[in-house]
Parts: sequence; structure tokens; C-alpha cells
Amino acid sequence: MAQPIFLSSGYRCVKHPVEQEKDRPGEHTHGMAIDILCHGARALRIIELAQKRNVKRIGVHQKGNPNGRFVHIGIADRYNLAFPVAIWTY
Ligand SMILES: [Zn+2]
Repeated sequence: MAQPIFLSSGYRCVKHPVEQEKDRPGEHTHGMAIDILCHGARALRIIELAQKRNVKRIGVHQKGNPNGRFVHIGIADRYNLAFPVAIWTY
């Protein structure tokens, strides 16, 4: 059954505070990543769906307040932007 998704982050300017903390701007600044708010079984389902669609950059933030948890879905590795395939946690 189709369900809406809620994003905590999409495109970010290189001047965004989160990006300013990084060594170099992340894939959000290329418009190639979203953070989907989710936790529990829904987070697992989103990861499964991403993998079915050959997504190779997945970040998992599943600590703290459930309402702030998210899964990062990135596709910058597909565009030779020096973002390697990876899975990571926050
Ligand atoms: Zn992200």
C-alpha cells in the first residue's frame, strides 16, 4: 500500500551548517541525496526498496528520538562525483 514519505533533508546549499562541518560538500549539495524520516520496520522497508532499485549509498541514523530518525538515500556514486558506494551509520 502506498504511503507518503517525509523528508528531513533534500538539496542543501554548500553554506548549510551541516555541509560546513564536512571536509568537502556532501552529495546533498549535488541534489543527489534525500534523508527520509523513518524508524523501525518502516526504516527496514525503505532500505529494502532502495536496494531493490540499486541504491549504493545508504546512511542509517536510528538512534535517539524515533521522530528524528532517518535513512539517507544517495545516488552520487552513479555520476562519477567521487562518492564511493557505502553504507554507514550516524
Ligand atoms: Zn543525507
